[in-house]
Amino acid sequence: MSDLIRKTAAELGALIAAGEVSAAEVAEAHLDRMAEVEPKVQAFLHVDRETTLEQARAVDARLRAGEKLGPLAGVPVAHKDIFATRDMPTTAASKILEGWRPPYDATVTARLREAGLVILGKTNLDEFAMGSSTENSAYHVTHNPWDLSKVPGGSSGGSSAAVAAYEAPLSTGTDTGGSIRQPASVTGIVGMKPTYGGSSRYGLIAFASSLDTPGPFARNVLDAALLHEAFSGHDPMDSTSIDRPVPSVVEAARNPDIAGMRVGVVKEFAGEGYQAGVLARYHEAVQLLESLGAKVVEVSCPSFTTALPAYYLIAPSECSSNLARFDAMRYGLRVGDDGTRSAEEVMALTRAAGFGDEVKRRIMLGTYALSSGYYDAYYGQAQKVRTVISREFEAAYQQVDVLVSPTTPTTAFGIGERADDPIAMYLADLCTIPSNLAGNAAMSVPCGLADEDNLPVGLQIMAPVLADDRCYRVGAAVEKALESRWGGPLLKEAPSL
Ligand code: GLN
Repeated sequence: MSDLIRKTAAELGALIAAGEVSAAEVAEAHLDRMAEVEPKVQAFLHVDRETTLEQARAVDARLRAGEKLGPLAGVPVAHKDIFATRDMPTTAASKILEGWRPPYDATVTARLREAGLVILGKTNLDEFAMGSSTENSAYHVTHNPWDLSKVPGGSSGGSSAAVAAYEAPLSTGTDTGGSIRQPASVTGIVGMKPTYGGSSRYGLIAFASSLDTPGPFARNVLDAALLHEAFSGHDPMDSTSIDRPVPSVVEAARNPDIAGMRVGVVKEFAGEGYQAGVLARYHEAVQLLESLGAKVVEVSCPSFTTALPAYYLIAPSECSSNLARFDAMRYGLRVGDDGTRSAEEVMALTRAAGFGDEVKRRIMLGTYALSSGYYDAYYGQAQKVRTVISREFEAAYQQVDVLVSPTTPTTAFGIGERADDPIAMYLADLCTIPSNLAGNAAMSVPCGLADEDNLPVGLQIMAPVLADDRCYRVGAAVEKALESRWGGPLLKEAPSL
């Protein structure tokens, strides 16, 4: 393994800024790593060596010209293929968008470029971000670098696998119900869902607009914070973007002092249905927080267990509306347009061919939940549950500064194991969904390996709206303490590569 790919993003940024290594050399080292491990991992949907090297050379030129770029200038990033990119295809891992080249960049993409990050390629995901394993991609399956027979989580599984396989120091994801935290957890890396509205949805292909939140992946908490700061903040192009300063997440990641902090353990997220090894590492992490000076109390949030069914009404309802734009006329695929068929027939044929089974299931569920006569019983009821969950969070945050739970009930499951069982698949997000419904900040940070299978376990740290910095402070404290125990990071190198 080249030395460059072992470095953290912060270290790479410093080396590049000091002129000790060029952005082009760093990009090349990662492209070489990708060439070596992609046949096994398959984290990417699109890689274009020349475009990447061109971007890197352009950053080198900007730096030589004395332009002041941020701390990540020249650092490579793998970008989830749900963000619009002008110079690369954008598919959301769906056949319906095959070959589509967006005429514009998403705000997240544009901010990566402004900060001088170098985009290595577009990463695989569950089609339209619907899933927890990346098996719903219309293109190929991505493998977990810890054990290639396991899933890398989802929907941002290409992004988690790329970082865990040392193909990229950083990657982007989106979290609608857990799609950053759950893949981070099962691949042993850090993943952060910012406060809803803290990062822009402009140019992000919409799944469920009231929940979709872009966020960072990295192999350590500080790197995640640097990427978080690089692309977050107010965007007038997104009507739900928050016009407030970005919480000082980098500062928090650099100051992991949690003495006196009040930590609430969510009572409902443990026990039956949780893997023993997950609970063992989780309980140790809670003890660790206590030993670092935090005041740990148990908090009950009884409605959190109803978040999952409410989400599976709200998210499909929004998806059924959002995906109506794929009408066979505007983007990508068009099937059966031979001059004999009506627009409706072409639309029906295109959707039948272009959408995968899970996407169709969600559109049908959502259309049903919104239909007249059922709206109040399903969508309306789910919205009420959403309000109750937000209130339970508010009540909890009267008592504590952050809440913790396991990120997901089990370690990485086998490829194919839950593919035919949607409910088992949905349960992967049991602990992550409440934070999406309430719109607050939440992180997953590695807390060890489960004894049964030696696979990574994640600790979830939840904080109030716009208190993202607390997740980073606690995450960094856990990381620092565990790394001194382990003698380095959990993920020293991808074990199966
Ligand atoms: N796994 C959840 C779902 O399938 C969440 C996905 C996400 O956060 N994008 O909807």
